Amino acid sequence: MSKETLDELIRPLIKNSVKLTLKADNSAVTACCENKFGGLPYAVKGDIWPSCPTCRHELTFISQIMNESAETLFVFYYCFECFPWGLGDEEQGQWLIKQYNKPSTEQIIEITRNTDDEYAPNPCKVISSNVLVLPDWEGLDSVSTEVGRLCSEIDDDSPWEIYDEAVEKADCLNDYATLLGGYPRYVQGEASHKCSECKSEMEFFAQIDSEDEANIMWGDVGLVYFFRCPKHKDKFQLELQCH
Ligand SMILES: [Zn+2]
Ligand SMILES: [Zn+2]
Repeated sequence: MSKETLDELIRPLIKNSVKLTLKADNSAVTACCENKFGGLPYAVKGDIWPSCPTCRHELTFISQIMNESAETLFVFYYCFECFPWGLGDEEQGQWLIKQYNKPSTEQIIEITRNTDDEYAPNPCKVISSNVLVLPDWEGLDSVSTEVGRLCSEIDDDSPWEIYDEAVEKADCLNDYATLLGGYPRYVQGEASHKCSECKSEMEFFAQIDSEDEANIMWGDVGLVYFFRCPKHKDKFQLELQCH
């Protein structure tokens, strides 16, 4: 068994992902249809600023992200007072994803908060770039047990270093980032979630890193991960992990 075999084994596991890079920009204050963090969210007639059912505070608008096919905008709100981790016993509504199909500037209405938001992200534009990704060491076994086994055969003491090398060699992103699609990069180990409706295994949708530029911090430099039901496209599960 060799590193060449390893390279061959991981090649079919490579996925495309979109890396979102934030850039503080005052033009991101106004409501729009594009990807952005902070400022005013995309909203349409009938929308009001959502509140947390638990603490009654208004939620913080974090980000809006367009999916890869540029058809649906996902608007993400979060309660920093309750700080949900995505555990089962948390009341629904402490975080929220609103989906808008084919968003358009003509439909935008401005919704505002009644109170100031001390957690409001610094408004940022988003620059998207296509990257290649592989599972991280934590999530590797659920994709291929063979790869992990081979890494251990090559170096039983630190097989993850062998894997890391192979990931780099395959030109895949090997760092934490805000990503749409691909594989999650875990802080605390692999996560899996089942759809509350149909019990299907949810798929990784996106992850949002702690972002200096937007002044967003998930615990101690953590990330939030979003999983989505392959059948019920409106069923999401959030998970927050930090150091
Ligand atoms: Zn709350
Ligand atoms: Zn489902």
